[in-house]
Amino acid sequence: MKIITSIVHMQALAIAPEREGRRIAFVPTMGFLHEGHASLLREGRTRGDVLVLSIFVNPIQFGQNEDLDRYPRDMERDCHIAESCGVDIVFMPTAAEMYPSGFQTGVTVQELSLPLCGASRAGHFDGVATVVTKLFNIVRPDVALFGAKDYQQLAVIRRMTEDLNMPLEIIGMPIVREADGVAMSSRNAYLTPSERQSASCLIRAIRRARELFAAGERSVAVLLKATRAVIELEAAAIIDYIEFRDCVTLQEREVADDSTLLALAIKIGQTRLIDNSVLGELA
Ligand code: AMP
Repeated sequence: MKIITSIVHMQALAIAPEREGRRIAFVPTMGFLHEGHASLLREGRTRGDVLVLSIFVNPIQFGQNEDLDRYPRDMERDCHIAESCGVDIVFMPTAAEMYPSGFQTGVTVQELSLPLCGASRAGHFDGVATVVTKLFNIVRPDVALFGAKDYQQLAVIRRMTEDLNMPLEIIGMPIVREADGVAMSSRNAYLTPSERQSASCLIRAIRRARELFAAGERSVAVLLKATRAVIELEAAAIIDYIEFRDCVTLQEREVADDSTLLALAIKIGQTRLIDNSVLGELA
């Protein structure tokens, strides 16, 4: 497994497989890898001849008062996990390498970036779209894998690759969960033991909404009230948003159907957690 920090070196490595007709599969991450990342890597391994993982905590997708400086890092452990998943190349550039002085270009996916996490994290998806574009230009993948855990991010990236005719396939992968249903996230490392218990309110709320939907409830007002009630029972939880939207356009819905996305962002103590579920999809 090669570990590469230089952009030109990574670009040079990507050109050989392209010339030889070998496919590059790519999994971009911010590191502190867990089983969710590993599921993307294992799928990537089956879809490409060369598997590239990037680890880059992208400063331009963090807001002023967010957790950029304390985002968890463990390169040694990440490299072990990467190796066990069959990664060929780990690309881990520095922020100075990615954003040298004079950098001034950005990519914006307009409407999809505005609601949900875009509303509480202004500029977040511009930062995501810009770094993913840069990473695609550096790694030149044939296929890139993203988790449905970050549902809006996946929607933004799908739109961006289509709108900008980027020549690669985007694969969305299911959310990997802990035994109690909590979605795996690098940010779970911030939680104290009691906050970690409280964090299960997100999946309990999702299960409640799915139960009602499966029993025939279609009113978003009713589903929202029931979902909100589960979160409000948890003293440590503060609601950022709970919304029901179309799973493709992310437009608001008043009547739920199989393609309705339930998306939540909930603060547990200082930690903001997100989760989601498309009501008509198998859990
Ligand atoms: P991150 O390191 O948090 O930026 O995540 C890197 C990639 O892993 C993104 O495509 C995420 O959606 C995906 N990912 C993170 N957590 C999970 C999870 N629990 N299940 C599936 N994919 C995930």
